[in-house]
Amino acid sequence: MNIKNRITLFSTVWMLIILLITNSGIYFLFERNLKDNALNQTETRITSIAEAVKSSVETNLEMGRLLRAYLPANSMIRIIASDNKVAFSSTKMTKLNEFKPMYRTDEYSHIKTEDGAFYTVSQHPVIWTDGEVVSLELIEEETSIPNTLRILRIVLILATLLILIPSFLGGRILSQLILVPISSLTRTMEDIQKQGTFKRIAIESESNDELNKMATTFNHMIDLLEDNYKKQEQFVSDASHELKTPLTVIESYARMLKRWGNKRPEVLEEAVEAIHSESVRMKDLTQQMLLLARDDSQPSQIQKVDLVLMVKEATKNLRNAYPRDFYVHSDLELLEIEGDSLKLKQVLFILLDNAIKYSSDRIDIVLSKNGGIAKIAVTDYGIGIPKEDLDKVYDRFFRVDKARSRDTGGSGLGLSIAKRIMMAHHGELNITSEEGKGTTVTMELSVLQGINSH
Ligand code: ADP
Repeated sequence: MNIKNRITLFSTVWMLIILLITNSGIYFLFERNLKDNALNQTETRITSIAEAVKSSVETNLEMGRLLRAYLPANSMIRIIASDNKVAFSSTKMTKLNEFKPMYRTDEYSHIKTEDGAFYTVSQHPVIWTDGEVVSLELIEEETSIPNTLRILRIVLILATLLILIPSFLGGRILSQLILVPISSLTRTMEDIQKQGTFKRIAIESESNDELNKMATTFNHMIDLLEDNYKKQEQFVSDASHELKTPLTVIESYARMLKRWGNKRPEVLEEAVEAIHSESVRMKDLTQQMLLLARDDSQPSQIQKVDLVLMVKEATKNLRNAYPRDFYVHSDLELLEIEGDSLKLKQVLFILLDNAIKYSSDRIDIVLSKNGGIAKIAVTDYGIGIPKEDLDKVYDRFFRVDKARSRDTGGSGLGLSIAKRIMMAHHGELNITSEEGKGTTVTMELSVLQGINSH
């Protein structure tokens, strides 16, 4: 059974149960009230008949006439002697004679139900003409009670039906209201599945209800998926584009080798050199791409890292590898932060590598602490970055000048990786640059509280 029918069935059955309980209560209370009233009436009547009998015994009036005069319609008056025999009886309804006479010395009344008809039976002791105590009995058929109850039953059944119809319709409307957005969600999902496109659910009302929230969340999820999908697509196309150049170079040199390699030694040397350097570039590129694809930026080993020591070690290594001047400026002896030392070292190497690649002068590294922020600023006095490109340098594969970067071996992935690592450390990377004058890239990280007292 679908949810729509389930909601309708539930609301209707629930309403039916409530109606059955309340209507039965009303019916039984009403029936009781009717019977009590009838019984009271009969009791009042028999009391006045008993009074009359008493006074007529005293005045020697003819008893038969008296009782017949008191006889109400649809009833029977009879006198029951102590031996349970009927001493006198008067009725217009012969079937009432079938009631078994029962002698009693007390006042007693009750309701008797037979074949769907109601009878009130009331007895009262009186002194009879012979001086004996007899039981005066009045039996009345209450013809109005079954009629009234029948009408009540019809009214209650009609009322139940009248209430059930709107309740059924209400259930339908309610389920419709709930299910329309769900159906639209399902349809959109099916469309996405069939067509392989990123579709959104149309949100019509401005309300802030749960269903609207569900649709908004779904749309956000699709936005995110589409965004990731596009990024992935872009990455694959960028990566294949980047790999195409070194592969073309390798291919053309290999062709040259095939043709001239044996005959011309200078071609052999140039080709081998070019193939070697392009394969090294390709290796570096694929390594960096793998790093980005795996999103290896998350710190895997959190430990205390002294940035002063880290900078000193890095520049010492670079001094051995490059014939360049690296100047470290620091008023601090210790600048501790928490993070993954290998990853942070990788960021520093990316910045220093760029400074080496895009300048030929000295390189300054300034360590400082400002409030709770530790900073490492790497400054070079090289070609700089044009203002309009400053925002783009973090994009994957972005290079200000592709031709020049290729000469320097840049892939356009370094700053993108550095930025990710800094973000994973809740830190920041800032660039200030002036074309032709130089560039300063600053790593900013939160200082470990209570340790750096300098
Ligand atoms: P690459 O491997 O090409 O250096 P990066 O992501 O590290 O890639 O840098 C992106 C681009 O930003 C570089 O290609 C370069 O044009 C520019 N850039 C980065 N650092 C500097 C710098 N210190 N001086 C001048 N240009 C820079």
